[in-house]
Amino acid sequence: MIYFIGAGPGDPELITVKGKKILSQADIAIYAGSLVNIEVLEFAKSDCVVYNSAYMTLEEVIAIMSEGHQNGETVVRLHTGDPSVYGALREQMRELDKRGMEYKVIPGVSSFLAAAAALKKEYTLPGVTQTVILTRMEGRTGVPASEDIASLAAHNATMIIFLSIGMIDELIERLKQGYGGDTPAAVVYKASWPEQKIVMGTVDDIAEKAKREGINKTALLAVGNFLGDEYELSRLYDSGFTHEYRRGTE
Ligand code: SAH
Repeated sequence: MIYFIGAGPGDPELITVKGKKILSQADIAIYAGSLVNIEVLEFAKSDCVVYNSAYMTLEEVIAIMSEGHQNGETVVRLHTGDPSVYGALREQMRELDKRGMEYKVIPGVSSFLAAAAALKKEYTLPGVTQTVILTRMEGRTGVPASEDIASLAAHNATMIIFLSIGMIDELIERLKQGYGGDTPAAVVYKASWPEQKIVMGTVDDIAEKAKREGINKTALLAVGNFLGDEYELSRLYDSGFTHEYRRGTE
């Protein structure tokens, strides 16, 4: 069987129990070497054959998977964070589908969730925003024109921008077309790794602050008033509010 597993954002303890269990049984593991923490591989058997996909093409990855599958081995493809977020997952699954090879996907803790934990914030603050936008700037991979940062910024929702910290000046220019310059912003570098860094600022000054810290990769930019301190209390725990599990006093 072939498993795509989310390895989590960095801290090896943030892989799921299920992901770790399958990894510990793997005969072959292919990991995304540029971002997956190598320490996660300590959960694998000592004779597990390990490949770093950073040096491989899609065809090579699929060839290793096919061979393992034909030999009845357990093959694990380790993705950083969760495989469904910028994971180039579909193209791999499509090749396996073509070959009639079965696979399962085990989710992981995405880096944007580790970033919220590092920031000690809640992305969906009552009375502030109930929407989270995950996006990126176009790089070698394009982004549809209808999703340009300026139009997404117009919602003033919580926005988490992946894969774009190296273009932070351009990114901020586009964000300013939707968010006020005083909107809070944060850069989280290597969330959950020992070298994690958090830079807090506003749309106006976050680029300078992040550059001063030398952050130019493996970071997320988070923007929105969820980083502020004004919000309403939730209805769920409101003493006057009745719901399925609890009768309120009103
Ligand atoms: N599937 C991954 C994302 C892969 S795209 C996930 O769910 O997290 C790679 C981008 O993710 C990086 O450029 C960076 O923007 C972000 N990233 C990955 N790990 C990170 C971490 N630990 N801290 C901050 N950003 C991270």
